[in-house]
Amino acid sequence: MLSVVVPIYNEEENIAAFHAAVRAVMDTLQHSWEVVYVNDGSRDSSLSLLTEIQRRDQRVTVVEFSRNFGHQAALTAGLQVARGDAIMLMDGDFQDPPEVLPRMVQAWKDGAKVVIAERSSRAETGIRGKLFPLFYKAMGLISDFPIPLNAGIFGLLDRQAANAIINLQEGNRYLPGLRAWVGFPTSIVYYERAGRAAGEAKQTLPKLFKYAMDAIFSFSYKPLRLGMALGVMVMAFSLFLSMVAVGNTVFHLKYFGVIPGSGHIGTLLAILFLGSVQLICMGLLGEYIGRIYDEVRRRPLYLIHKLHRSEAEGVLRYKTDKVLAEVEDSVA
Ligand code: UDP
Ligand code: MG
Repeated sequence: MLSVVVPIYNEEENIAAFHAAVRAVMDTLQHSWEVVYVNDGSRDSSLSLLTEIQRRDQRVTVVEFSRNFGHQAALTAGLQVARGDAIMLMDGDFQDPPEVLPRMVQAWKDGAKVVIAERSSRAETGIRGKLFPLFYKAMGLISDFPIPLNAGIFGLLDRQAANAIINLQEGNRYLPGLRAWVGFPTSIVYYERAGRAAGEAKQTLPKLFKYAMDAIFSFSYKPLRLGMALGVMVMAFSLFLSMVAVGNTVFHLKYFGVIPGSGHIGTLLAILFLGSVQLICMGLLGEYIGRIYDEVRRRPLYLIHKLHRSEAEGVLRYKTDKVLAEVEDSVA
């Protein structure tokens, strides 16, 4: 059985066409299948559209969150609820084209446990078109281990890889990174990333910023080392300047025109510079500490208000006991 997991937040313009497209594609495959829509606290008519689809189509499950928890939380919930032997993750705005699904299934049948859909092009324009490539470039430099750069969440996970990801405990989730982290035989399919079919992007820029920060701070220690590197550099520079100053005073030299005692501006600049370096380093520390705080608090990633699905008791048969209990708790 194949599962398709789709996070939905205010996608009323897309849902009907999207479901029709997914159904048409999935019906061409020789497998039983299901679609899990995770309604991430939509404020438009998305939920009623989804439950309507679910009433008419047994293969549809709708997970209804108690509020908006975000894209990554929705995907995680979908992974936990999905029952398939392979699970495909995709966005509900047609940016991840359903026609790519059969190619991912084929790669899975050929033995891959993880299939990553990499964009050979992207259609974002404006600030996103500028920021996305910049982020991926930075991520490539910063990440402590290789994460495919032109890939988002679109892809397929075999049950084994999916369980591995479900059992990862971290709360600040960057799924493309976690997927790279779990490893397993991986293959890549290429596709042209389309523009959004309808509506505005639902990942607002602050959300994307948080996501980018999660990616960087969950997969890299380099920002922490940056503080140390800056410290060493500033120290070397100030030692050098003091030597020049001492030389100039004691031996009446005129190197670099540094004359001690004449520098209001120099003092001011030094204070400002060091102050800002320290603030930056404290900010970086704060990013890690905040994430540590999230992790020790152990708040759930999301709360499920209702699970709309036919034969609800057969739901959890593939699950490990722990995950099973969690999902049952949150449904109850
Ligand atoms: N989405 C979600 N919760 C959110 C924001 C977005 O479930 O808080 C869904 C959205 O409905 C879409 C997918 O996640 O199906 C990707 O969102 P979007 O297209 O806005 O993100 P982008 O393409 O800019 O990464
Ligand atoms: Mg999108």
